[in-house]
Amino acid sequence: MSEPRPAHIPDDAGGDPACWMHRVCDECGRLADEDPPTRCPSCGARLEAD
Ligand SMILES: [Zn+2]
Repeated sequence: MSEPRPAHIPDDAGGDPACWMHRVCDECGRLADEDPPTRCPSCGARLEAD
């Protein structure tokens, strides 16, 4: 095959990262258990809804 390959890694790991990125704690990087607004279950930092 001589098809040019895209430089990005195919995201076949399941799902779009954008759907949980807003749940990631800015302070410790932990994924919250629910959608913001909520608090990080690990460090207690506030996660704001965007
Ligand atoms: Zn945290």
